[in-house]
Amino acid sequence: MSSYLNLDGPFKVESANCKYTKDAIISDYTYETTMVEGNTVKPVSTKMQFKTETKVPKVGVMLVGLGGNNGSTCVAAALANKMKLTWNTKEGVQKSNYWGSVMLASTVKLGNDASGNAVYTPLKNMLPMIEPDEIVWGGWDINSMNLGDAMKRAKVLEYDLQEKLYPHMKEIKPLPSVYFPDFIAANQSERADNVLTGTKQEQLEQLQKQIKDFKSTNKVDKVIVLWTANTERFASVEEGVNDTAENLLESIQRGEEEVSSSTVFAVASILEGCTFINGSPQNTFVPGVIELAREKKVFIAGDDFKSGQTKMKSVLVDFLVSAGIKPVSIVSYNHLGNNDGRNLSAPSQFRSKEISKSNVVDDMVASNRLLFEEDEHPDHVVVIKYVPTVADSKRAMDEYTSEIFMGGKNTIVMHNTCEDSLLATPLIYDLVILGELCERITMKKEGSKNWETFHPVLSLLSYMLKAPLVPNGAPVVNALFTQRQAIINVMRACLGLGPDNHMTLEHRFE
Ligand code: NAD
Repeated sequence: MSSYLNLDGPFKVESANCKYTKDAIISDYTYETTMVEGNTVKPVSTKMQFKTETKVPKVGVMLVGLGGNNGSTCVAAALANKMKLTWNTKEGVQKSNYWGSVMLASTVKLGNDASGNAVYTPLKNMLPMIEPDEIVWGGWDINSMNLGDAMKRAKVLEYDLQEKLYPHMKEIKPLPSVYFPDFIAANQSERADNVLTGTKQEQLEQLQKQIKDFKSTNKVDKVIVLWTANTERFASVEEGVNDTAENLLESIQRGEEEVSSSTVFAVASILEGCTFINGSPQNTFVPGVIELAREKKVFIAGDDFKSGQTKMKSVLVDFLVSAGIKPVSIVSYNHLGNNDGRNLSAPSQFRSKEISKSNVVDDMVASNRLLFEEDEHPDHVVVIKYVPTVADSKRAMDEYTSEIFMGGKNTIVMHNTCEDSLLATPLIYDLVILGELCERITMKKEGSKNWETFHPVLSLLSYMLKAPLVPNGAPVVNALFTQRQAIINVMRACLGLGPDNHMTLEHRFE
């Protein structure tokens, strides 16, 4: 009987399609797609080469919202893993790990051995990638609290672990940040004791200088900036204000009100050539930012970490619709008691979250006209309440009602309790690891002389994001396993390997 084997160490592809040079892996790849025109279907093959630079750089990650629950947990857990810390809990000794990170704690099927056993390997073995232990962490917060105290305030990690980390964490202090009070809830104002002053333009320039200084002080090859600060209200997109790169830069110069803090961060990051990732739901990426990213050829990715309820939704609805079952109502309640919940208790910040949570089933629904008429959608309601007692331990309750065979109804109810930041933090590692890797991958189509980078709107990071930003005109994919398979198949292409087709024909014929 065949079984499942794991190849833990590094591997090498032996193929005419995959060459290892001193500083790159170069693969020949045939991209097979299917063209449908009316009722004619044609297979299409495109030949291309992928080049992956293999030298793993030293990376600095600057988090906006460093002192928050996610920010402090992210730095604390990377430090705990680096120091291989263990700590006592009432259930016994717990070791540091990266569970919940698809890049660090999941495996992928590589192939089969001669006896037909399936061979899996850690996803992080596929191509050379940065390790969170080696990342230099830093960033900004409008609150000046050192990270040791911020970690305690977050109440996310176990007491014994906090005690072990405190002496290291208390040395890290957030940089003063851009704070435009109108964009986050009024209840956050008491935290704002660490803010930059000056005009919008001056603050933008100070951010650029902080990024430059961080890079040189820590001697890192590159910096990635990631927004994990409070959810802002949506900025209104207005002609002449933020609709083009030029208008946006001019708006910042003249101190235009409708340019949010997160947009100023995105602009600073792009101008410094640093990938910028948005882990919150607001529309940081107004058209002017997207145009600027394209002009400067810098990656941007967002929006909003896909951590708990939405991740489940993008699995469950995919399952229902692809099983031929029609979800007709999805009702999601959340209550949480952390500072994120407090900020979201204000209507316009809640509205940003409601929007980012609302479109997550659209692609799956639109894919099945047997179940849904055009423009027909399930009822979809999202409620979020602030309940301080539960702190970071978020409760999510979901009710999915579906129409099944012959007019029957099926209702699935789920109750999920989990530390919010223990779900979100591994996604921060994933976003920076994959984002950084994408900076080292280029592609050249047959007959072309130019190596192309990925589109500046880096949609390969969608797996980690609730409302994925995609290049103009590209379809949005929310279904979780489709998103995961895209990442794995791109990595396989970089090695000259075809996608895993799951056919296992070797076992299906006698
Ligand atoms: P938090 O409130 O604990 O942390 C946010 C931090 O950002 C705070 O320390 C605050 O002082 C700081 N801040 C606010 N405005 C700032 C600015 N302009 N510059 C610098 N710092 C600023 O929240 P959290 O639980 O860490 O969540 C962070 C963000 O991630 C929120 O927007 C949340 O909606 C989003 N998010 C979280 C999850 C999750 O935790 N599971 C999932 C999806 C999205």
